[in-house]
Amino acid sequence: MATRTSDHPVRSRLEHAREAVAKASVDALLVTPSADLRYLVGYDATPLERLTCLVVPAAGEPHLVVPRLELPAAEASPAGDSGLDVVPWDETDDPYALVASLLAPSVGRVALDDHMWAAKVLAFRDAMPGVAQLPGGEMLGALRIRKSRDEVDALREAGRAIDRVHARMGEWLRAGRTEREVARDIRDAIVAEGHVRADFAIVGSGRNGASPHHEVSDRVIERGDPVVVDIGGTNLAGYCSDSTRTYAVGEPPAEFREYYAVLQRAQAAGCAAVRPGVTAESVDAAARTVITEAGYGDHFIHRTGHGIGLETHEPPYLVAGNDLPLEVGMAFSVEPGIYLPGRHGARIEDIVVVTDDGGERLNQVTTDLVVLTE
Ligand code: ZN
Ligand code: ZN
Ligand code: ZN
Repeated sequence: MATRTSDHPVRSRLEHAREAVAKASVDALLVTPSADLRYLVGYDATPLERLTCLVVPAAGEPHLVVPRLELPAAEASPAGDSGLDVVPWDETDDPYALVASLLAPSVGRVALDDHMWAAKVLAFRDAMPGVAQLPGGEMLGALRIRKSRDEVDALREAGRAIDRVHARMGEWLRAGRTEREVARDIRDAIVAEGHVRADFAIVGSGRNGASPHHEVSDRVIERGDPVVVDIGGTNLAGYCSDSTRTYAVGEPPAEFREYYAVLQRAQAAGCAAVRPGVTAESVDAAARTVITEAGYGDHFIHRTGHGIGLETHEPPYLVAGNDLPLEVGMAFSVEPGIYLPGRHGARIEDIVVVTDDGGERLNQVTTDLVVLTE
């Protein structure tokens, strides 16, 4: 049975976007290929030099402007049967002038998505002289920050898939192999276990574990090394996973076990602090306090977490100074770390969704230290 276009999920998201545009006192929102575009109209367009642009005016109908050769792809997406007006442009047309012509002559202020290429921002400036350009990220972020039931289901599925990869870590993580070799196997498993792509695989062994965003190197993993493994991918629905466990390849140094126990308590305290109405920064504080009180405060050098959805990093950010109250449906990582430069480090990361009575952890693999022995 066909959905009436007025009930189509794309129509309701576009209507919410239109309301946000009107409330922000801008005349239109322009959205190029990005997670924002995918969220609003379900079209997972690749960012290319040719302009694809969703135009959402504060008053009137939205339009999706696409290069003629992308028209079949746009029409095959959920946008295609939503009743959204899809406007193709031909190879020799000026698509920027086309977008300008779709806006009222009185247009004075337009908001742009955060990921729009600078070349496109500047081309819009030329096509609409005198029109003020404003950042649209906050408006778009607010639309996406509370996940629907379907979105939470998609995040939960991604969480289970990445849990299955962590559960298999002993197959790949061994003394004598390089970080790069281990990461290659992990990336294959991320796809095999239910993602359409592997987004990242951080394998930080020994001293490399003390650098939070170390990716991989040709360092050979040694017996006794602690190894930070932070991995994630994107599933078919477009939602991301992101989970960190720190392993020991054989018995680790005693000082490592000592601060790992502190970190485990801190991560649990962060997860336990999640509930509707508390601020984002209070979750950071709950985790950080445990680490600071144990004397490792100087070694926890990043925020406690970031929101996650169609992007791995999106609002809300769990960081001191963010007094945003948490609401049901917000999803984010809780990922404190302790890093001893030149020696080793540890991080534990789960995705948590705010529910009516607290937080639901979407990652279920144990946070106890897993010592891998051959
Ligand atoms: Zn990160
Ligand atoms: Zn991560
Ligand atoms: Zn993360």
